[in-house]
Amino acid sequence: MKPDCREAQAEVYTYLDGEMGFFRKWRMKRHLRDCPPCADGFSFESKLQQKVREDCVEDVPEELMVRVKTFLRQNGPTDPSADPTAGGSDV
Ligand SMILES: [Zn+2]
Repeated sequence: MKPDCREAQAEVYTYLDGEMGFFRKWRMKRHLRDCPPCADGFSFESKLQQKVREDCVEDVPEELMVRVKTFLRQNGPTDPSADPTAGGSDV
């Protein structure tokens, strides 16, 4: 493992959080381009973060869902058979 790798891996979460300065970000990107083992590791990390974000998005408050459905009913297609809230999801 190169010394750069140790440094890159220590900073991976800063990089993924987008809290990294321009120069350090640039160095990180350049290292990932030149170092496939690190790039593989980081693509896994970013997928992991994306997964966490998706899980958070799924946790939508019921009240918000009702408002979205009401909005769709008022602004969506006028054809009742095309109502996105009709049928489909029997809860
Ligand atoms: Zn590396």
